[in-house]
Amino acid sequence: MSWLRDLIRPDLQSFAAYGSARTEAGAFVPTLPLDANEGPWSPFGPLGALEPLNRYPDPQPADLRRRLATLYGVLPDQLLITRGSDEGMDVLMRLFCRAGVDSILICPPTYGMYEVYAATQGAAVQRVPLRAAVGWQLDLPALESACTPETKLIFIPSPTAPMGHVLRREDVLALCKSREGKSLIVMDEAYVDFSDNPKGFVPDLVAHPNLVILRTLSKSYALAGERLGAVLALPELIEALRRILSPYPLTQTSIRAAKDALSPAGLLQSLERQKILIAERVRMTDLLPRSSWIKKVFPSQANFVLAETSDSSALMEHLKRFGILIRNRHTLIPNTVRFTLGSPEQNDIVLRALGVDVPKDQPGTTPRLFSVRRATKETKIDVTVNLDSPGFLDIATGIGFFDHMLSQIATHGGFGLCLQCKGDLEVDPHHTIEDCALALGEALRGALGDKKGLARFGFTTPLDEALAQVVIDLSGRPFAAFEGSFPALMVGEMPTEMVPHFFMSLATALGASLHVNVTGTNAHHMIEACFKATGRALRQALRREGADLPSTKGVL
Ligand code: PMP
Repeated sequence: MSWLRDLIRPDLQSFAAYGSARTEAGAFVPTLPLDANEGPWSPFGPLGALEPLNRYPDPQPADLRRRLATLYGVLPDQLLITRGSDEGMDVLMRLFCRAGVDSILICPPTYGMYEVYAATQGAAVQRVPLRAAVGWQLDLPALESACTPETKLIFIPSPTAPMGHVLRREDVLALCKSREGKSLIVMDEAYVDFSDNPKGFVPDLVAHPNLVILRTLSKSYALAGERLGAVLALPELIEALRRILSPYPLTQTSIRAAKDALSPAGLLQSLERQKILIAERVRMTDLLPRSSWIKKVFPSQANFVLAETSDSSALMEHLKRFGILIRNRHTLIPNTVRFTLGSPEQNDIVLRALGVDVPKDQPGTTPRLFSVRRATKETKIDVTVNLDSPGFLDIATGIGFFDHMLSQIATHGGFGLCLQCKGDLEVDPHHTIEDCALALGEALRGALGDKKGLARFGFTTPLDEALAQVVIDLSGRPFAAFEGSFPALMVGEMPTEMVPHFFMSLATALGASLHVNVTGTNAHHMIEACFKATGRALRQALRREGADLPSTKGVL
């Protein structure tokens, strides 16, 4: 693609990347790697036991690249993993801008790092402000006349920073079209996962070769501490950027954290949490103007809201007295402050500090959501439970009848359950059933959190010819009693002897006293009755009934 090559700095057009022995070895995986002067032992501290910290990490792990590509809807060769999306900005400027000659163009008010990276690269900064009069949208005629042959990169965040609204699609695409072959349009989509259109500009990448997209796992995947972002663009551009990236931009722990975040359970948890933050955005947009401090809230599609106040510095000082730090955006838009959306409980603290009487019927409460990953040589399990959202069920253990039973527990328990297990079924179903019970129990216990307001006890006695009685106490003290014997050895691929074992494992990991009694003549009915009744008992016990701890001891 000659236009792209011509845009790249001449001295970097045929740049040879650093080659390590490992990248040069290609498919050969050494059993004894003595090529990179690494230390032979794990370092001091617990992290070294979890990840191979003494080894240089894979510069672009293929598996992670594939998962991110699937997440964003591109092909792996259209994606470069970077140290946060900030690094994406930095390498773009280094690849395209000749110091003292080329420039980037930004549309203030905007994100501050574009200017910082331009300064360190010696690139000039052109500014074409957004038009406040038309809802802070792009000023296309002004952009058109500002661009020169040296304008290499145009950086545009959408949702914008610091306002949080989305820019008009047709304006962005018109700009791409008019600058084709001349400038790259870099859409910074750090906040797009919280917007009404989480695909953002990805579907436009094919039709607009000069479009580049920046994404990040910092916000919607809660991984700001691990520094993970991505550049999405033409494969030729991705390859050119890769050549100038530092040799090992990712760390072993960031790779692990990203893979976990993109596992089925991790994705589910993040999506649920994104929904919570979007609901909080609606609530905060509604409630903040009830404070005498707040004049107006800007409409946002991000995980923050910008608000206008009469004196932003005074408001910052006021909130500091409550231990709260927000961001003063006065220099960008006079007397504005930006509130990052916290958990519902955290947002309630902010509202109260601002003198808003949080309505009693709508206090913020975080759904009781918890994920567990359990991996042994026998089973690998990802499980997520959401005690306050019975909607989702996604269960796959490889044992059809057992999947059916787990869905009984969740449906009758009134909670959402996503459970994926890859177990050694070639041995027998024992490990899969036992380990799923342990992981489910652990996830339920985690989701209970501090147990405040918990109903705690559950009791039930249902189901036709087969009669199952289940009594549960979420006491924190594990105990299981099972009474009953089955008239068959197997139901489907599930040995009936695993049923008492399942309940014992569940009670142990959940920290519950569980008593199961079952009678009947048909093993399928009897087992189903046990799982249904346990679900019903759990439904009663998991209910939130206020804010107190249901124990005279003061601990559970
Ligand atoms: N773009 C925008 C608009 C941002 O506000 C931020 C950080 N606040 C970033 C990019 C950088 O994100 P990352 O953590 O991926 O470097």
